[in-house]
Amino acid sequence: MNEYINYINKDNFEQEVLKSDKPVIVDFYSDECPPCEVLAPIFENLADTYSDHVKFVKIYRQENRELAVSLDVTSSPTILFFKHGAEIGTRMNGYINKPQMRKAIEETFGEALPKLERKKIECDTLILGGGPAGLSAAIYAARARLDTVLLEEGVCGGQAATTYHVANYPGTDGVVSGRDITDNMRGQAISFGAKICEFKEIFDIDLAKDIKYIKTEDAEYFARSAIIASGASPRLLDAKGAYEAKGKGIHYCATCDGAMYQDRHVAVIGGGSSAIEEAMFLTRFATKVTIVHRRDGFRAAASEIEAARKNPKIDFVLNKVIREVNAEAYSLKSLLLEDVNNGELSELPVDGAFVYIGYDPASALFKGQLELDDAGYIVASEDTKASVDGVFAAGDIRTKQIRQIVTAAADGAVAGIMAEKYIASLE
Ligand code: NAP
Repeated sequence: MNEYINYINKDNFEQEVLKSDKPVIVDFYSDECPPCEVLAPIFENLADTYSDHVKFVKIYRQENRELAVSLDVTSSPTILFFKHGAEIGTRMNGYINKPQMRKAIEETFGEALPKLERKKIECDTLILGGGPAGLSAAIYAARARLDTVLLEEGVCGGQAATTYHVANYPGTDGVVSGRDITDNMRGQAISFGAKICEFKEIFDIDLAKDIKYIKTEDAEYFARSAIIASGASPRLLDAKGAYEAKGKGIHYCATCDGAMYQDRHVAVIGGGSSAIEEAMFLTRFATKVTIVHRRDGFRAAASEIEAARKNPKIDFVLNKVIREVNAEAYSLKSLLLEDVNNGELSELPVDGAFVYIGYDPASALFKGQLELDDAGYIVASEDTKASVDGVFAAGDIRTKQIRQIVTAAADGAVAGIMAEKYIASLE
């Protein structure tokens, strides 16, 4: 339980919300609700920042149904804003990220909020990104006694933490989850003295000078070196209605959302290792998993395809692309497919779809600051040195052939050591 959050129920709603002197933000949440779980640490993080000026309230919807219905709250999470006893602003539902939540609070309660004084923080090396590359860099840099700060825009773990089962990370018994690997890395980095700062949105960046400058909502960082490990983000499905259905039928993380589809029929889109692995995982819940791929050859290993073909719950629809997503409130009705060979349209009735069509580099912030290749990856070779002195690129964000958890961790080690050598050379 977070000390800045008030957990209330229908009996004290009037006192705590309607009669509150401060503006109030209310989160109606439920159990077994993945978007509620995503929101919970974001809500806590913002409560830490704003609780002197805004009251943060949580109401457990399952035990306060009458109150929820009287307020017309029909889904979890639902966020409502109150001031002087009246609801104001625009309600929020479904998957909500930190920038969306922060913006909504600032727009709704703007005049009630203080201008935040940004702290000024100096360090030896600033790591951007808390996936395996950033965490491994933090382990090596902190162990080399560099004053090390890692900034992560969500919670640490990166793509690896969304992989249910990592079979090939060396030194494990082959049944480890990605989350366990990255949690261990995070703990290891902290044990060596690295400061891990999660939920940090980056507002501004200047890598050109000797002292690297990075501004977040609550601090300005001045670092002698920077390690960029911002990774890649899932490529979004480009089909009519797909954006609107994100989190409500269209998903990008089977580990996070798969359990919602117990005894239902889901589609998995893509033909790489991620699509096949996650399709196998989804058979734990779904009665049927249909893999939809745009050609009849696969990027996934032959052994993975063979295992999927043997699974009685999995079937394949090949040479088809998704043109349209037909959604209802919190699930899908169907996907409209187009045959790539003859343009024929067909409808695939499914309750949900999980998209695994590869990743795009998270490099927008570095455009104009560092040399990027045509696909947007930061140009750096095995020594991880980027085009500006004192800046290193590690993991999936770097130009490289093989993107695996182990290669990201290896890059992080190299970048941590290179940052230490660079700083030693300045002295
Ligand atoms: P990927 O290997 O790049 O595969 C992406 C798949 O999506 C491809 O089959 C591609 O089709 C398809 N695709 C791309 N854009 C599309 C679009 N706009 N519409 C429809 N389909 C589209 O991505 P990934 O499977 O996420 O794997 C990424 C990397 O992580 C790979 O190096 C993989 O080996 C690695 N990985 C490793 C593990 C593990 O070690 N346990 C697990 C998962 C992934 P085409 O083939 O036609 O281009």
